[in-house]
Amino acid sequence: MKGYKFFEQVNKAFDKAAAFTNHSKGLLEQMKACNDVLHITFPLERQDGSIEVIHAWRVEHSHHKMPTKGGIRYSMTVNEDETMALAALMTYKCAVVDVPFGGAKGGIMIDRSKYSEEELEKITRRYAFELYKKNFIGPGNDVPAPDYGTSSKEMAWIFDTYRQISSDINAEGCVTGKPVGQGGIRGRTEATGRGVFFGIKEACDNEEDMKAIGLERGLEGKTFIVQGLGNVGYHSAKYMIEGGARLIGVAEIDGSIYSDKGIDLEKLMAYREESGGIIGFEGTKTLRSSKSVLEKECDILIPAALENQLNADNAGKIKAKIIGEAANGPTTDEAHEIIKKRGALIIPDNYLNAGGVTVSYFEWLKNIQHVRFGRMGKRFEENSYKKILSVIETISDRKFTEKELEFLAQGGGERELVDSGLEETMVNAYREINEIRKSKGVDLRTAAFISAIDKVAFMYGGMGIFP
Ligand code: GLU
Repeated sequence: MKGYKFFEQVNKAFDKAAAFTNHSKGLLEQMKACNDVLHITFPLERQDGSIEVIHAWRVEHSHHKMPTKGGIRYSMTVNEDETMALAALMTYKCAVVDVPFGGAKGGIMIDRSKYSEEELEKITRRYAFELYKKNFIGPGNDVPAPDYGTSSKEMAWIFDTYRQISSDINAEGCVTGKPVGQGGIRGRTEATGRGVFFGIKEACDNEEDMKAIGLERGLEGKTFIVQGLGNVGYHSAKYMIEGGARLIGVAEIDGSIYSDKGIDLEKLMAYREESGGIIGFEGTKTLRSSKSVLEKECDILIPAALENQLNADNAGKIKAKIIGEAANGPTTDEAHEIIKKRGALIIPDNYLNAGGVTVSYFEWLKNIQHVRFGRMGKRFEENSYKKILSVIETISDRKFTEKELEFLAQGGGERELVDSGLEETMVNAYREINEIRKSKGVDLRTAAFISAIDKVAFMYGGMGIFP
């Protein structure tokens, strides 16, 4: 859409919420501003010998807590405005789920399908090197993670590059979302989608809220449509189905498909792997355009791809009763108002997709403490390990039972530990923002922003402003 400015959209939502707080204008302006914006260009020598200039960014939005945290995106949509908006969203989403990081984001403007694996490795390593040179990476400084178009493989390259050029004893904590064998944590790959599921389930379990939008309580039997079968979309859909919901539509780059009889997700993934797309999958109808299926009748719509997908052009045609924003910024401010007026419940990105960074926090804790969950010796059980468990208990506001502690100490269990910490985090944060929503008479996005603004303001209040 022409004239779309993502950072402006985030700030619009921030301003709406700020009106419900009583912080000074100056402090609010300070909270909105991006602290550091880095635009890097570097040359890539391609395999055919030609040279190409690569554009990349890293934005640290807020240093109110350190390190700053946020993914790295590989996409042709990457630009300064997008990276600033996504970095700001990281600040707010971390605050909403009480993960003690400032917000950051990075991106490289490339279409990864146009490069070989070797070229992607070169691009990634050079990017990591540039970040290091400019002090935009480090376990106590700024910690990247995967995002759209990146995965644990790129994180392993970043970690290895950092390890080669720094003598940091905590090098493992310079990036999260690493492969499990290289300091990663079990459950991180699935975490964002798993968190999306926990968040939507919690909303569906609230009888009063479901009644208000004309739905029955519970996830069981609800129909849903997902946009994007990347890491977040796939895992969201997987856990929704496991939780009893029925997948009836999928939107992907090559088009969209629909079947009121339900779509077999695993078979569809295999079909896509084989044919390169989702069109033509058995038992489904192919719709006009890649976004048409978003307008179909369903209980829950999960945009899990990119920003600006529900906008003034299609918002009036969206029929879903619940919009679960798995992507960052999928709904424009205008579309949000249109969909809200129709009476639908929008579960906002600044809460719903926070599962990824929540589990990144667990991974980072594990890295900087130099411990492994599971198979710990007695010594670790007594100190670092216990400390980590107590941090997880504090942020997720739950206590491990004796039986759980024993299970964890005896080995294995990392996956379960991560999962229960994630579930409690998502459930508690939902309850917190839902309460704000009701007490202030606002929507959930505004409520999540109010929660974030108050928490960040509290930090500034406590530490003052330097010098
Ligand atoms: N890229 C993810 C996000 O947008 C995760 C960030 C992280 O783990 O640092 O939330």
